[in-house]
Amino acid sequence: MKIKTMVLGNALLAAVMGTAFSLHSYEPEREISNYQGTYTCHPEAIYDPRSIDEVQSIVQDALIRGKKVMTGNRKFASQIDAACAGDDQVQITLKNMNKIVHFDATNKTVTVEAGMRFNDLNDFLRGQGYAINMVTELAIFTVGGMLGSGTHGSTLDRPSNMLADYVTQLKIVDGQGEVRVLEGDLLDAARVNLGVLGVVVEATLKLEDAFKVKAEVTGYRDDSDLEDVVLDIAHNNYSANIAWFPRSRALHHHTLQPSTNRDRRPSLQCTSRCHRCGRVFLRATV
Ligand SMILES: Cc1cc2nc3c(=O)[nH]c(=O)nc-3n(C[C@H](O)[C@H](O)[C@H](O)COP(=O)(O)OP(=O)(O)OC[C@H]3O[C@@H](n4cnc5c(N)ncnc54)[C@H](O)[C@@H]3O)c2cc1C
Repeated sequence: MKIKTMVLGNALLAAVMGTAFSLHSYEPEREISNYQGTYTCHPEAIYDPRSIDEVQSIVQDALIRGKKVMTGNRKFASQIDAACAGDDQVQITLKNMNKIVHFDATNKTVTVEAGMRFNDLNDFLRGQGYAINMVTELAIFTVGGMLGSGTHGSTLDRPSNMLADYVTQLKIVDGQGEVRVLEGDLLDAARVNLGVLGVVVEATLKLEDAFKVKAEVTGYRDDSDLEDVVLDIAHNNYSANIAWFPRSRALHHHTLQPSTNRDRRPSLQCTSRCHRCGRVFLRATV
């Protein structure tokens, strides 16, 4: 008897709270924070929609109730609080909207749901012989988050190296809960959007043929002539990632060069170790 009463009670409550209630995440936490733990927000609710229709319902419900909506991961990687809806506001994550929508080998494009992680996209593309020509330090970022924050790789070979450069079409749910497909000038205005132009639900990205790269990781225990060293690394490599630890005066860099190695298997070798200068050289072809 008691069980029946509880079930009925929940059913009535769901009806009273409207459609959005039934989409509410059942994960216990009502909190999102960034990777470093420097920002934490306590939204009224965190929704994990599974479809564009569900995103529209959440936005329309929030609009009626005068709530602000923001999209961002429970553990978001941006180093500001831009992904937070704010305390008592409405938070959306696209953790359930993370799939390939359409792959077009003829036109070399792929359309993905915006919650897809960049490493999952790269895994898919590798199997097809294509790639998006940019390397980020971490690849756990979502496509929506990368467009929101203007995530970029590092190369002097191109005028710009953001994921946003590769977008040919965006599908968003705007602030009225309407679906809009953005191309041309509107797309240019929305490529990098800080999450404030609506929920990006799908993105179409231009692909390039995949090519092999040789990766080298080098560490130094001496940061003399740092400026010259950094410029030298940037000018002499296709892509580079440099970490400097001022307190210990250590420096290490990770560089990538296009490789003509035809071997299909990835390889990793420790090429040398210099005990006097403290350098270790690693080389990988992937
Ligand atoms: C260890 C580390 C390494 C990093 N390396 C790099 C790097 O190499 N290059 C670089 O450029 N950056 C780098 N960053 C920063 C990182 O790229 C960005 O923070 C990235 O956007 C985070 O992705 P995310 O999926 O966590 O997005 P979030 O932090 O969740 O969101 C970022 C922004 O996009 C908005 N947003 C998210 N999803 C959507 C959506 N579907 N629709 C609309 N708006 C949305 C959010 O509201 C927010 O404003 C690094 C960060 C860390 C912590």
